[in-house]
Amino acid sequence: MPEPGVVLRSARVLTPGGPRPAAVHVVGERIEAVLGHDAAVPPGVRLVELGEQALLPGLVDTHVHVNDPGRSEWEGFASATRAAAAGGVTTLVDMPLNSLPPTTTAAHLRTKQDSARGRVQIDVGFWGGAVPGNTAALRPLHRAGVFGFKCFLSPSGVEEFPPLAPAELDAALAETAAFDGLMIVHAEDPGQLAGAPEPSGGRYADFLASRPRDAEHRAVSRLIAAAERAGARVHVLHLSSGEVLPEIAAARRRGTRLTVETCPHFLTLTAEEVPDGATEFKCCPPIREAANQDALWQGLAEGWIDCVVSDHSPSTAALKTADFGTAWGGISSLQLGLPAVWTAARARGFGLADVARWMSTAPAALAGLHRKGAVEAGRDADFVVLAPERRFTVDPHRLHHRNPVTAYAGKELYGVVTQTWLRGRRILADGEFAEPTGRLLERTD
Ligand SMILES: [Zn+2]
Repeated sequence: MPEPGVVLRSARVLTPGGPRPAAVHVVGERIEAVLGHDAAVPPGVRLVELGEQALLPGLVDTHVHVNDPGRSEWEGFASATRAAAAGGVTTLVDMPLNSLPPTTTAAHLRTKQDSARGRVQIDVGFWGGAVPGNTAALRPLHRAGVFGFKCFLSPSGVEEFPPLAPAELDAALAETAAFDGLMIVHAEDPGQLAGAPEPSGGRYADFLASRPRDAEHRAVSRLIAAAERAGARVHVLHLSSGEVLPEIAAARRRGTRLTVETCPHFLTLTAEEVPDGATEFKCCPPIREAANQDALWQGLAEGWIDCVVSDHSPSTAALKTADFGTAWGGISSLQLGLPAVWTAARARGFGLADVARWMSTAPAALAGLHRKGAVEAGRDADFVVLAPERRFTVDPHRLHHRNPVTAYAGKELYGVVTQTWLRGRRILADGEFAEPTGRLLERTD
């Protein structure tokens, strides 16, 4: 006999058809049915009454640097997945670099899986890495269950993960196209970066000048051309410059297999507000000016940007020196992405349905996580319960990130995560975590 399950009832359930009052019947790990709000609760079924709190699909964050093993003092599977759960993220896909080893062979993937196993609050998958010389390792990594491959076109920041030169990118794309794999790309052009002034010192304007928009534009142009030559599926990571959007739109109109993400910091923080020496705001590509941010929101509105994911890339506080030239580049926001994006989205007239699409449905589709990303029958019962009109002030010491360094300190944000559910179990309620029951995910076609 099937177990009776649980019903979560809310006045605002974010379904694929839009927000509506509904009762979501969960049996075991899956959503059994999305019923009318007034549907009778079957005998024996537990009712969780959420009132006016919104029920969203659990967020899917496909851009997270867990850095474990090898640089686990920067983050780690236990701390990252606690922060994720606290922020309403129920699935993350870990980036292949900054851990040691990097995820560039199937053996290295197993090392990372061994490091994660039994320690994760949420479901965790892995990207593989494409680096010079490992083209022959891509298919075995694909078979071993990675969701795709990350490469850089310019230096990555760590020497064990070098960028692909143009001919190497062509070879890697020919290989991924052969098995219809996905290549996700850090797109800044090394020549343009080399021609820009070197960053040093504490002035943000100097750092911004060292990572010009042209570098993104040139790299995305090159990537589009390479993807078209190979017939490969590619994804632009962390788009920062809105100037590239017309070219992206043109490529997509002619059928290039291209998707795009941007990040909470590009949508909510501006160059104008970065204090001198505040390297918690340093990332590559960089946070640009307010006018550029408007263009990114327009790109989301028009659908040329698919996903909003964190690019959570922490380090120890010691590596965040006051010098933009030498400080580690990366912004920590795994726990804060949802309220940060929601706060800015609601001010610009977007709804929670848009946020759920950008932060859950679209990233799930990007990675091929077919059971994730929507509140509908048959999907995993992964949810975030959000009090969308409740506000809070970001206190770094309330973050579960291993290093409480954040560009959002002191910001007042809308949207408090009150509960997080993973495959039918409540894993977080009012700040209290359940025992970790996250799973390690592998790609299935
Ligand atoms: Zn990244």
